[in-house]
Amino acid sequence: MAVDAGGAANVVRQELGSDLRGEVVCPGEAGYDTARAVFNGMIDRNPLAVIRSMDTSDVIRSITFARRHDLPRSVRGGGHSIAGNGVGDRAVMLDLSGMKSVRVDPEKSTVRAEPGLTLAEFDHATQAFGLATTLGVVSMTGIAGLTLGGGLGWLNGRYGLACDNLISADVATADGQLLRASAQENEDLFWGIRGGGGNFGVVTSFEYQLHPVDRVLAGGLSYPLSTAPEVLRFYDDFVKAAPDELSTAASLGFSPTGEPTVSITVCYCGPIDDGEQVLRPLRAFRSPADDTIQPVPYTDLQNAPDDAYPFGRLHYWKSGWLRDVTDRSIETLMQFVPQMPSSVSGVGLQQMHGVASRVAPTATAFAHRAEQYDFLILSQWSEPTDSDRNIRWTRALFEAMQPYLEESVYVNNLGDEGPARVHAAYGDNYARLAAVKAAYDPDNLFRANHNIEPSTDIASGIE
Ligand SMILES: Cc1cc2nc3c(=O)[nH]c(=O)nc-3n(C[C@H](O)[C@H](O)[C@H](O)COP(=O)(O)OP(=O)(O)OC[C@H]3O[C@@H](n4cnc5c(N)ncnc54)[C@H](O)[C@@H]3O)c2cc1C
Repeated sequence: MAVDAGGAANVVRQELGSDLRGEVVCPGEAGYDTARAVFNGMIDRNPLAVIRSMDTSDVIRSITFARRHDLPRSVRGGGHSIAGNGVGDRAVMLDLSGMKSVRVDPEKSTVRAEPGLTLAEFDHATQAFGLATTLGVVSMTGIAGLTLGGGLGWLNGRYGLACDNLISADVATADGQLLRASAQENEDLFWGIRGGGGNFGVVTSFEYQLHPVDRVLAGGLSYPLSTAPEVLRFYDDFVKAAPDELSTAASLGFSPTGEPTVSITVCYCGPIDDGEQVLRPLRAFRSPADDTIQPVPYTDLQNAPDDAYPFGRLHYWKSGWLRDVTDRSIETLMQFVPQMPSSVSGVGLQQMHGVASRVAPTATAFAHRAEQYDFLILSQWSEPTDSDRNIRWTRALFEAMQPYLEESVYVNNLGDEGPARVHAAYGDNYARLAAVKAAYDPDNLFRANHNIEPSTDIASGIE
């Protein structure tokens, strides 16, 4: 039966209706615009139907339905992909945001978590037991896309990336099977989902290793932007020599009161007294305009920036890995940041450090392992009429930073930037990822993502 936009509602309901626990929302129906909305307000796509899956069975039935009708599909976890990959025009959109079951095993320090959870919901469940694992730094983000692409957050120095803490996952594949991926089962799939994004199927359950995390010594130091050359040079030397327990980020932009500012945010995950000692030189090297570093519950740190990233603002990002903060790169930043067209945008250097940086580049699909920064120009604004100048400024700064950036990029920061940038995101692991893709999704049915084309040119040997 052919399915077009007009007839979608009937066909989906006829074939899936009573088989689903979740609801179906089609064009023209109440709630359709809410159901298709994603974090980045630049994305305005019209799926054929949104299937709000409530369980694994809904997911498998939806995959089978889309396959039967040869329909493109997209998968939405937390909906925060900046490229808007959770939603596609004329696609069957599998919305997993209702799948929020989470079960902590405090004895084993593990958790099973469904893909609709946000970071805040996940942390809420695990912190009840004094446990946590690395996720990201804005708590409304979804755990699913974040983990599948890597997952760089405040615990990365001590405990690695989110994907490094994955023990297993249930994956519904293109042919409607449900596979367990772990170090013992479907090892190549397990390797691929730790950095290869949603290319191989729909993850319906993640199992993570947790760690004892209580209060952390965390907060920010801010300084006038004019001092950025001195601050960033000190920062680069200091954090590279810091112990694994310390993870940090630096950012340039405007303070809430409109002052051009450079700031450093830190999280020391270890004994508070040790942290005080470690951070002393950073807090003392120059007097900050503000110092908010103090012992805080881990969830307070995780939730702190949420208000700065409301759902639905217009976003345009450019990013790349940065190994060193050089004088020339700081000069470039000093030239551009004061001209930033939106006061709520920012330029960030999120540190990859310690354990996350020492994992072998081929041990998981996440290839970019080094002591380095995820350099991100995060432009956001509210009015569509401001889009052109914000995009122009972002591109110009990114261009000017090219001599200092690696060619590679973090896949979870990518917009719709073309195949060369997708290759750069998967780096030297691309060929092996293509082989895993050929094994689990040979017809490339899961392509609403930073797509890996299936290829059997190399064998996907597992290390
Ligand atoms: C404000 C903000 C802050 C961020 N901060 C960080 C950070 O600190 N650290 C970091 O590492 N990243 C960060 N990110 C990037 C983030 O990792 C990505 O946006 C990620 O895609 C979010 O996952 P999601 O589930 O919300 O996204 P979605 O848009 O729902 O999904 C992203 C991709 O994953 C696929 N996908 C989602 N769920 C599944 C599933 N269950 N099975 C298979 N495929 C699936 C989707 O199809 C899509 O291709 C941030 C993003 C934003 C917007």
